[in-house]
Amino acid sequence: MNRNGLGRNKGWHRIMHGRGFRVTAPREAVLSVLEKEKTHLSAKEIYAKVIVIEPSVGLTTIYRTLEMLAEMGVINRVEIGDKTTRYEIKSNSSKHHHHIICTNCRKVIDYSEFSEEEKKLFTKMTKNIEKKYNVKITGHNVQFFGICLDCEK
Ligand SMILES: [Zn+2]
Ligand SMILES: [Zn+2]
Repeated sequence: MNRNGLGRNKGWHRIMHGRGFRVTAPREAVLSVLEKEKTHLSAKEIYAKVIVIEPSVGLTTIYRTLEMLAEMGVINRVEIGDKTTRYEIKSNSSKHHHHIICTNCRKVIDYSEFSEEEKKLFTKMTKNIEKKYNVKITGHNVQFFGICLDCEK
C-alpha cells in the first residue's frame, strides 16, 4: 500500500479504513487520481490517468471500482445530462457544493459559496419537505443548467 506515496493521510484513506474497506491497488489508484485532479472525470478519463500509476488495471476494473467506491460513499456520481457519468472524490476536505453545468460544452462548475441567506433557505426547504412527505432528508443533489461564458462568446 502507498507504494506511490499518494493518498497517505487523505480523507478517503481514513474513511476506507474507518469503515473496514480494503484499499486495493485499483481503488487506491482511482482515489489518488480523483484526489489529485479535484474535478469531475468520466470512467475513461480516470482510466487514462490510472494506467500511468497502475498499468495492469483494465477499463472493466475501473468501471467496477468506481461503482464500488460510489456505493461505499467515498466518491460521488455526477450525472450532467449526457450519457456519461462523471465521478468526484468525497473527502472530508472537499466542501459541500452544487453543480452548474453548461448544456453546450458540458463543463461542470462547483458552486460552494453559499450565503447565510441561501443556507437558511435550504434548511427551511429541507424541514418543509420532511414534514410534508414524512421523510428524513439525509442529503440533496442540486444542479443548475446554463450556458458558460466561453460558449456564449
Ligand atoms: Zn460551455
Ligand atoms: Zn463537484
